[in-house]
Amino acid sequence: MVLPEGSARILGRDAQRTNIAVGYAVASAVKSTLGPRGMDKMMVSEMGDIVITNDGATILKEMNVEHPAAKMMVEIAKTQDEEVGDGTTSAVVIAGELLKKALELLEQDVHPSTIISGYKSAANKAIEYLYDASENVTLKDNALLNKIAAIAMGSKTVTAGETKEFLAKLVVEAVTQVAEENNKVVSVDKDYIKIEKKQGSDIGQTSLIRGVLIDKEVVHPAMPKKLEKGKIALLDAALEIEKTETDARISITSPEQMTAFLEQEEKMLKNMVEKVAASGATVLFCQKGIDDVAQHYLAKKGILATRRVKKSDMEKLARATGARVITTLEDLGANDLGFAGLVEERKVAGEQMIFVEKCKDPKSVTLLMRGGTEHVVDEGERALVDAIGAVRSAVQEGKYVTGGGSIEMELAMHLRKYANQVGGREQLAIQAFAEALEVIPRTLSESCGLDSIDTLVELRTKHEKGSGAAGIDVLKGKVGDLKAVGVIEPLKVKKQALRSASEVTEMILRIDDIIASKGKAAAPAGGGAGGMGGMGMD
Ligand code: ADP
Ligand code: MG
Repeated sequence: MVLPEGSARILGRDAQRTNIAVGYAVASAVKSTLGPRGMDKMMVSEMGDIVITNDGATILKEMNVEHPAAKMMVEIAKTQDEEVGDGTTSAVVIAGELLKKALELLEQDVHPSTIISGYKSAANKAIEYLYDASENVTLKDNALLNKIAAIAMGSKTVTAGETKEFLAKLVVEAVTQVAEENNKVVSVDKDYIKIEKKQGSDIGQTSLIRGVLIDKEVVHPAMPKKLEKGKIALLDAALEIEKTETDARISITSPEQMTAFLEQEEKMLKNMVEKVAASGATVLFCQKGIDDVAQHYLAKKGILATRRVKKSDMEKLARATGARVITTLEDLGANDLGFAGLVEERKVAGEQMIFVEKCKDPKSVTLLMRGGTEHVVDEGERALVDAIGAVRSAVQEGKYVTGGGSIEMELAMHLRKYANQVGGREQLAIQAFAEALEVIPRTLSESCGLDSIDTLVELRTKHEKGSGAAGIDVLKGKVGDLKAVGVIEPLKVKKQALRSASEVTEMILRIDDIIASKGKAAAPAGGGAGGMGGMGMD
């Protein structure tokens, strides 16, 4: 025995069964949230904090799973969220279904490596078909992008009806504003779309600031609180006299010397302020400290200043105003200054904030999320994040497909035909992959009370006859043409979901030996597939 006492080991088929059951259980936990008629989940943490959400990634994060296979499933949700920002539930649900189908194949004695290679080629083919079924979208197609944003926010309850359209527009404006196009390659750095949440007011008061919102106050009461056409200096240096690091001793023997010493200090600070003013700056954002004396002189010069601004905010300010962050005061010149149409300290939900707005073509913007309660602003933020992710994915890849399960039906149909060409045992795996994709339309149909068997039969026929956009019109509760309904989603989100779902399935299937050290879960505790076994819900 090489293993320490108390460790558990599960081998071969049992290891696969265990992992599949756990993976499937994770998928089952989020499945009911899928689509605009999906349900919300209330998650209560050990500390009693409550999160109410419909967001797959958030649910999985809050679930605090223990089992390694469950952790792998959570991992794909994270990847999906980071890469494309939307489609997390779909990715996890598809992965769960791929695992379930794999188990059926294992029971029929299909070797795991055959399943893996079948799934792999199915995923690659599916992505090819995805491109075939897609249409183009550019930064200028506002109407399309608005739809994509609204659909991505879809199932978040806080964003019903008009609010959704309103927020979608803000998101599209934000993304297209920070987007950069080089040789037809569009890139969007989502770090430059800052989301500030402030509880209070209502969601309809959410706004887009063409610039940056800084969670700071103006340092001195005598400084202006509002400046139009602000000329902005960004300084990564202190407006303070550096105190010596080592134990230096200054011996002052007379009151005159003391006065001279203080005067000298004051003069140095005054000089620093002179340099700032000489550059022509009217607004100063300082990453370090500003001495009281310097504050006084800045106020006298009518300069609006704030100190200890976060580095990340300095970068955003630079991108928004066109200013350059200067590290030595001596270097500050007129060329380093940026511009903002308005710089103003305003109170939001009882807190002073500095608005740097009306910037010219800002490459950094801020969404100020408002909402009546903490739960509303939190879920609202998640809706914004999903929408930003979707619009970003759409403009980066430049392609979109129809949703509501229509694209999954279309891919499944093509995969079945492809499976027939491949033949052999791998064919079974490819067919299984096709069936697994149908979990999306099936779940959507169930979410709006349709009979899923009849519906899938109807959809298959429609797709055979060439209606590629036939899917579930969830809001109307019937089969429909999702292109006409306007349910569209970025190709990139679907592609990433297919990739991550098939990758995690492969990873789980490859494992034929689980060695767990003492106290760690190797087997799901109690429940099997479909239950919540092994998921350490606490
Ligand atoms: P995910 O985390 O996967 O994005 P969602 O809960 O956002 O999960 O659901 C996305 C699914 O819902 C997609 O398949 C999408 O096409 C579908 N969907 C969204 N809005 C509608 C709608 N109005 N009608 C039909 N299907 C919709
Ligand atoms: Mg979504």
